[in-house]
Parts: sequence; structure tokens; C-alpha cells
Amino acid sequence: MSKIKILPEILSNKIAAGEVVERPSSVVKELVENSLDAESTKIVVEVEKGGRSLIRVADDGAGMSRDDALLAIERYATSKIYNDTDLFTIDTLGFRGEALPSIAAVSKFYLTTKTEAEPAGTEIIIEGGTIKKVSDIGAPTGTMITVKQLFYNMPARRKFLKTVNTEMGHIADTVASIALGWPGVQFRLIHNNNILKNWSAVSDHADRIVDVLGQGLHSDLHRVDTSSDNIGIVGWLSSPRIKRSTSRGIYVYVNNRFVRDRVVQHALFEGYEGRLMKGQFPAAVMFIRVPFDQVDVNVHPTKHEIRFAQQTKVHDTVAKAVARTLRIADRKQWTTASLPKSGPSSDQHRILEPMMHFGKTETETLNAKKDWRENRKTPSLWQKLDSDAPSYRPDQQETLWERKRLGELKVIG
Ligand code: ADP
Ligand code: MG
Repeated sequence: MSKIKILPEILSNKIAAGEVVERPSSVVKELVENSLDAESTKIVVEVEKGGRSLIRVADDGAGMSRDDALLAIERYATSKIYNDTDLFTIDTLGFRGEALPSIAAVSKFYLTTKTEAEPAGTEIIIEGGTIKKVSDIGAPTGTMITVKQLFYNMPARRKFLKTVNTEMGHIADTVASIALGWPGVQFRLIHNNNILKNWSAVSDHADRIVDVLGQGLHSDLHRVDTSSDNIGIVGWLSSPRIKRSTSRGIYVYVNNRFVRDRVVQHALFEGYEGRLMKGQFPAAVMFIRVPFDQVDVNVHPTKHEIRFAQQTKVHDTVAKAVARTLRIADRKQWTTASLPKSGPSSDQHRILEPMMHFGKTETETLNAKKDWRENRKTPSLWQKLDSDAPSYRPDQQETLWERKRLGELKVIG
């Protein structure tokens, strides 16, 4: 008789759950990501006892028909990829078709869902991977998944759950890390009937950053906004005087997926150019866009890790963007403190240079520089802004200052 056997489905789902569902916050991550993939505009996460007794995620997304809902709880069932070409152009958060069956295998799982097209919704109840009930139910369009008694059938796992506060901390971090990337979606987090977070949808990404990270940090954040060679970077970096002892304030997103990536983290530190000591960390939120076929997101079941096709290029682009942003920020601070009231004295020449882009975004500064180069034909001055070009001459600054004072120089505005 053969010694090798194919595992029963319930057992293989439990095994998959071991990788995908580490703790309550993993359930929150998977369910919220599904809600985002379903194009929800409002997502409510409700938790009791740090997720030990209940985790519920409700959304107003596309919902599922009964057939789809029954398929969704099967292993390897996904609506997000259909063939192996799709695997290299993934633009959704999920695609492995593992989360729902894994979660349902290790909990008491209630799924309620309805599409706009269908008059009735569907309810499916599963306990420890076994379907207990499938029925019609009245429900609004969207999906609500309730996960009760996580790991009730895996005592060893349940024993490893930490205190309510610790698990709740992980859940709050998870919701924050996702919410930072989706400003157009409203998120609400409720614990034991108390609303902990309620982030309304905003059109300006910076508003969400402040909502999540706190108004206090806002005045110490510098904006990165650059794109070159198919890599786009938008982000907010704390000024070097903010020194944190852990990297928990660093949020990196690649194509809107929150990732823990060593390459980007290393580039971020390199960009701080020695402004931080070993063991000191900045706060930073960075969104990196690369063509979908330039990044492999299928490296780990939780998809927190990714692999870039051109790692060095991404690294160098990030490091340069960070360094440049912080250099500009340094100059701005310096000038605000010592802004001359009238024309410059000779020792003020040097501080005029950063004033060119005082109060401007980096793009505006770059455009202004380009204009100036083309129209005024005095490149050496602008070279000085980009690098310490040897052709820099203070007398040109003086001329510039005079022109600004006389209102001639419209690029400065
Ligand atoms: P994956 O997200 O990798 O496709 P999941 O097991 O997380 O796998 O979900 C399986 C499928 O169930 C999804 O592909 C999607 O079609 C459907 N689904 C899951 N959650 C939702 C939701 N909140 N709204 C609509 N459809 C959903
Ligand atoms: Mg999923």
C-alpha cells in the first residue's frame, strides 16, 4: 500500500492557515484587502477582545452572487487572476485564493454578501472548515464577514495569542497601514463597541497621512514627489530631528501594497545621509510606483515581501529622492531663520540661493529652474542649486536678488 496520501481539504486549509493567519490582525488584513479589491468606499472593522472573540469586516463593495460566494470559500478560488500571464501583472491586493478558506478552517465563520443585481443576499456559515448552512438573507449591497473564536479548533495556536492590548495594537497598526494607502476610502475601527478610529474619505492624500500619523508630526514632514525612468515616488519624510528607536513609523508601499522591503528601507536610510545615527529611525510614508511586471508580489503567502526586477535602480532612485528632499528641507529651514528684510549684504549671498524655491513644491522649483535656464541663459546659478558646481558666482546671486526685488523675475513669483 502506498505511504503517500493527498491531504483532506480541511487539513490542507488548516495548514495554509498556519502561514496566512498568524494572529487576529492577519484576518483583518486579508478581509480588508478583499474589501478594497471589491472597490468598497467604506470599510468598518469591528473587533471584540482584541480579535479573540470576534472580528467583523463590513464593506459596501461589489458583493458576491451565491455561486461566487460558495466558490470564494474554496481553496485556490479567486476572481483576480485567470492565467499565468495575469500573475505577472497583478494590480489587486489578493490573488492566491487562500485567505477565506484558511480563515474559515480555523474559526466560526459567517459570510453575508449581496450584489446590486440580485434581490436577495446569501449567508454562509462555516465552522472549522465545514459548511453548516447556506441560505438567503436580506442584506445591503456589499459583504460582511464575521470571524468568531479564532483558532478555537487549534488550541496550540490560540494559546500563543497575546494580551488584548497587544493583539489590538497589531490590528490598529494593520488598519492604519492600509488606510494610509487608500485616502479615498472611509475606514472605521471599533473595539468592544468603542470607535477607536474613524477616517473619512479625503481627496488630498496628505490629509489622510495627518489623520493617521497625527497632526503633531505634520509640521515635521517633508514631501517627496518625483518620477524618473518608470519609477514614481510620492511620500512624506520626517525631518532628521525626529528620531525614533524603531522602524515602526516607516510605511513603504509598492503599487499601493504595504510591504516590508529591505531594499527600500536601506535606500531610505542612505538618503538621510548620516543625519541619523545607528539605531535611530525616521518616520516616513513612501508610495513607490513601478510597472506591474517589474515587481514580483508572489514571494510570500502574506504578500508582505516583494521582489523588484531592477532592485538597484529602485534603491538608487529612492535614495536620491530622499536625499534631495532633505537637502531642500535643510535649506528652507536655514532661510526662514535668517531671511533678509531688504537687499542682501555680501555675506547674505549664500542664503539667497535656497530662497529660489522657498515655499514651492519640488516640481514647481524644477519648472522654475527650467524656465530660467531657457529664458535667462544663466545656467551657472541653477547648477549651484543642483550641485556644488564650481562655476557658482555670488555676483550672479546679487543680480538675481535685485531683479526679484524689482519684480522683474516672475519665476520666483
Ligand atoms: P483572493 O483575494 O486571493 O482572491 P480570498 O480567499 O481572499 O482570495 O477571496 C476569494 C474570492 O472571494 C476573491 O477573489 C473575491 O472574488 C471574493 N471576495 C472575497 N471577499 C470579498 C469581498 N469583501 N467583496 C467581494 N468579493 C469578495
Ligand atoms: Mg484575498
